[in-house]
Amino acid sequence: MIDRQTIDKIFEAARIEEVVGDFVSLKKRGANLLGLCPFHNEKTPSFNVSPARGIYKCFGCGKGGNPVNFIMEHEHLTYPEALRFLARKYSIEIEEKEESPEEIQAHNEKESLMLVSGFAQQFFTETLLETEDGKAIGMPYFIERGFTTDTVAKFQLGYSPEKRTALAEAAVAKGYKPEYLEATGLCIKRDDGGGIFDRFAGRVMFPIHNVSGRVIAFGGRTLKTDKKVAKYVNSPESPIYHKSNVLYGIYFAKNKIVSNDNCLMVEGYTDVISMHQAGIENVVSSSGTSLTVEQIRLIKRYTKNITILYDGDAAGIKASFRGIDLVLEEGMNVKVVLFPEGDDPDSFSKKVGGEELQEFIKKESKDFIGFKTGLLLKDIQNDPIAKAGLIREIMETISLIPDAISRNVYTTECSRIMNVDEQLLISELNKTRRKNFTKNLKEEEAQQIPESEEPYDHPQPVTEKVEQDYEEQERDIIRQLITFGDKAVMPAKALNEAGEEVDILITVAEFIYHDLTADNLHFDNLLYQLIFNEAGKAIEKNIIPDEKYYVQNPDGRISGFAAGIISSPYLLSPKWLDKHKIHTNLEEGKISLSVKKSLYSLKEKKLLKLLSEVEEKIKTATDDEAMILQEEHIRLDGIKRKISADELGRVVVK
Ligand code: ATP
Ligand code: MN
Repeated sequence: MIDRQTIDKIFEAARIEEVVGDFVSLKKRGANLLGLCPFHNEKTPSFNVSPARGIYKCFGCGKGGNPVNFIMEHEHLTYPEALRFLARKYSIEIEEKEESPEEIQAHNEKESLMLVSGFAQQFFTETLLETEDGKAIGMPYFIERGFTTDTVAKFQLGYSPEKRTALAEAAVAKGYKPEYLEATGLCIKRDDGGGIFDRFAGRVMFPIHNVSGRVIAFGGRTLKTDKKVAKYVNSPESPIYHKSNVLYGIYFAKNKIVSNDNCLMVEGYTDVISMHQAGIENVVSSSGTSLTVEQIRLIKRYTKNITILYDGDAAGIKASFRGIDLVLEEGMNVKVVLFPEGDDPDSFSKKVGGEELQEFIKKESKDFIGFKTGLLLKDIQNDPIAKAGLIREIMETISLIPDAISRNVYTTECSRIMNVDEQLLISELNKTRRKNFTKNLKEEEAQQIPESEEPYDHPQPVTEKVEQDYEEQERDIIRQLITFGDKAVMPAKALNEAGEEVDILITVAEFIYHDLTADNLHFDNLLYQLIFNEAGKAIEKNIIPDEKYYVQNPDGRISGFAAGIISSPYLLSPKWLDKHKIHTNLEEGKISLSVKKSLYSLKEKKLLKLLSEVEEKIKTATDDEAMILQEEHIRLDGIKRKISADELGRVVVK
């Protein structure tokens, strides 16, 4: 954990124009700076940076936020990762807070392991580029494979000397502890207690980077053709390397995965590297293991679309079906490309070049139904039992998809391809879902599920989602809370010590907070509720939240939204502003009126909706129920009358 003071220091130091300026070329435009948005393609600049407010905002794609948000978005880092990134830029020492001695030790251990891994990478690269053996043995191998020197440099490839203690000695001489060399698996302790030796001696080296580009492990390929020697040796699991959580190439691919909105999955290091060299950069590999849920979730940070590329002669294609199921279960879309027999992406890219490969992937991408049926259908010609088995298998896979609309689409497709009745498939699907659903519940829980919650799909057309009812009103209140919560006061009532109501002045933020809390009203839009709660936290501590409180909020959703709303007041729902004659550049006196109008509009709309719901229910209620509903109706109507009688100054601060 990074402590609050350090976070404040980072925010103070990080000038938005400098942070953005590292990535975007900015031109002065009045008080602001303008450039081409790095988050979407554009020819005329609409990316604004406001040094005074410490925020950026793109009027093209809508992205906006503070310096930390920018780094998170641009470098695809988490909040603490982005803070560390900026701390490094501004040479701010990070004070870790409330860490137990064990945590500190674990943290330091990880850092030490990364440092020694980084050292090893440099050592292997220097050996490759600068030593006789490297130049005579390692480099020719890469050249032979068709890697350019730029590619070798980009992926930090290297060569580990034949001498079995070369790395161990070099590292220890530089002060790295043998225990860290061992913990990373770079070196192995000898059985006879005679020190440590290098795991990768005599191999060409592929460093594995984490999401932020630090080396955490290695793969080493032998140069021997001896079949008894393992072709690839990989780093073992360590505190910094959990194989199942890591994707080879993610650091180099992440930006392209986002901009292409698709992630290509290949088998190994060389496939990733060759495809990069061919100009296809949204590609990662699970390095010799089958795809895990953690890896899929890592990809999900960047895109919802995965395309898996398989060798033409991969023995394990059928085993790979499990990977497809996992991707679908995570609610992601999966496509599959099968390479011609004898080719993998590595060899194929060299044969045909980048453009044709790109074309091939586009043309050959199949969804999992097309892929499975294409593979299996020829085996089961005219065998009805085998065909039924295949259909059932495909329906099992479809049943894993969390989204009902997608399930629907695939069911229709399966019905078409396999030439079976769709209704039949739907009932099969429902059976499977019912089975899976209850399998995951305890007996008694399963019995309590009301009928309506059964995970059944119905063949009806999918109706569009109803528009959010209160969006405009809710947004307007939150805008006022953020933009002038601390900038104006308005009259309200409070109870004095004798319990009498007295007139007081409170800030807009307090007014909004107490007014909505008093009526126990909640926002439909969860982001707005989050912002409202955040304001409440401050107000309860007698702090009046200002613009900065939201813009610099550690929660990226809050800071991003706040940055957007304060930089574009006139873009916000002009229809709404116009209709209610609300102007955003209000003089002091009008703010009070505007805030009240907004609160009133929201309440009125909520009450009208509640009233009509009650009326609807009364129509079909039993007598007893109707009585209760009638009472509720009277209560709601009472509230409505009260608020419409311009009673909005009545906020009572306790
Ligand atoms: P060859 O020159 O014989 O084709 P290769 O180095 O291309 O050898 P392949 O056997 O073709 O290796 O394997 C394809 C990909 O799978 C390679 O990119 C490699 O990174 C990866 N791979 C193979 N075996 C392993 C392994 N044991 N661990 C990690 N990755 C592996
Ligand atoms: Mn190969």
